[in-house]
Amino acid sequence: MDDQRCPRCGWPVTELPTPAASVHPMARGQVSYRRCVCGSWLLESDGVVLGATAPR
Ligand SMILES: [Zn+2]
Repeated sequence: MDDQRCPRCGWPVTELPTPAASVHPMARGQVSYRRCVCGSWLLESDGVVLGATAPR
């Protein structure tokens, strides 16, 4: 399944209007930060949302 959503507002990550703000290669794949429409930063790794920061 590919149904990753923002843990704070439930917005589908695939529907975000903005691309990844920054991408960091890791030992296993890569992680990227994406800004959600609710203002949170989503930590994403290979298409899987690992967590979200608090909106500022
Ligand atoms: Zn959100």
